[in-house]
Amino acid sequence: MVERVVWDHEAAGSKPVTRTIGRVFIPYLCYEHAASISSLLETAPWFFSGKQNSCYAFVKNVISGQMKRKVFFDSDSFFYPSDIGEDYMREQRKWISIERENQDLFELFEQYYLGFRTSMIICENENDTEDALKLLKEWCETCLLMAKDYVIKHINSDASLPVDYLWIAKLAIIDAVKDDYPIIETIPIKLSMKPTISARVKDKNTIVFPALIRAVLNQCNLVLINFALSTIEHKHIQIDRQFLSRFILPYLLFCHDDLSVRNLPIVGAYSEEAVTTALSYTNLQVIYIFAHEYAHILLKHFDDNSASKTSETKENEADAFAINAVVEYISRDNNYTKEDVFTAIRWLYKFQLLEERVGILARGETIREVPSEFEKRRSLFQREIIRRCNITGTTLLDQVGFVGIVSLQDVLNVYGSPLIEAIFQAFNNSKRTGEVEPWWKMIDPK
Ligand SMILES: [Zn+2]
Repeated sequence: MVERVVWDHEAAGSKPVTRTIGRVFIPYLCYEHAASISSLLETAPWFFSGKQNSCYAFVKNVISGQMKRKVFFDSDSFFYPSDIGEDYMREQRKWISIERENQDLFELFEQYYLGFRTSMIICENENDTEDALKLLKEWCETCLLMAKDYVIKHINSDASLPVDYLWIAKLAIIDAVKDDYPIIETIPIKLSMKPTISARVKDKNTIVFPALIRAVLNQCNLVLINFALSTIEHKHIQIDRQFLSRFILPYLLFCHDDLSVRNLPIVGAYSEEAVTTALSYTNLQVIYIFAHEYAHILLKHFDDNSASKTSETKENEADAFAINAVVEYISRDNNYTKEDVFTAIRWLYKFQLLEERVGILARGETIREVPSEFEKRRSLFQREIIRRCNITGTTLLDQVGFVGIVSLQDVLNVYGSPLIEAIFQAFNNSKRTGEVEPWWKMIDPK
């Protein structure tokens, strides 16, 4: 049996605690130096000089071997490599602008911080504990500076956000459907910093896309894959509901409430395979979500002659369109299998369902209808994916991961609003103490 090491608040910087699933990295970072928004705004964007942004310099440093650690940088995430030409960036950004929302500046700062921070994933089995923690701390500090810089840009300029995956997903969809819908290239996109795992259409023709979607989805995928790979390796199912809840629920609550993200837990990857698999599922999920919104516009769901269609019909059409776009995309890219499509989308449906339920509980309401209309509709689409992909079975990883998601559903049903309230309070208090109370201990681990 492989022993896994966990860092906890108690253990940070001192002795690692031994647990069985995945290695956990807690940011353990109080950024008092950025706590006051006025000091944030007074500071000139001194950290950003030309193309050499600080995250990029950090990454280069790690890759060039000056820091010898096994880490992964999600280079399609929240920063772009400095060697991409400006012309290319300008072209990609032509239809993308920032959705300006009424938002507390400090919240905005935390959102940028989270976006940058989640671009680095530490692989657990190759790193020395002390070393990795030091690296993580340096990375978090770099991300704070980047966040500060980007908040200033966000307020003062129309420069787009540093989200590479957005145009990767956009191009994937355009390539898949532009023969039938040439107009797709000119549909404007607005990037929102408000975290959620679904997009929306505004003014009948503009897609509002959440910039943090990749960060939230990748966290959910990675946690489940860590759990699944460890379960498969140890050949027994032992669902640690505390572990799953601890690393997924706060991210989903963050989508609904002004939860402070400074102490959101960082999970390390169980293995290299865990990171690459999580990222590939996240890619497919982002394309799916994006394509679903494109569908509402391209299929003219906002026109008067669509008025006779029920919203259920429109949602079904959009889902079918999105499945087709993803299937078309993987047919051009050898990195994915049909089984990946099935797993990625089926997990996504469940994440969205969990997110919806966390939202209901966060508002102090009770979950009435189980399964909901949304759930019933989505289960039909699982069959549609099986048909479209012509798959006859699924993978062990898919199955075990799915068991993990269902157990989270169960946690929400059993513990309800008091659990969500406990998470909210724990993170609220963590603003003062720098530590997150072990709210997950109220969950029976089995
Ligand atoms: Zn829709």
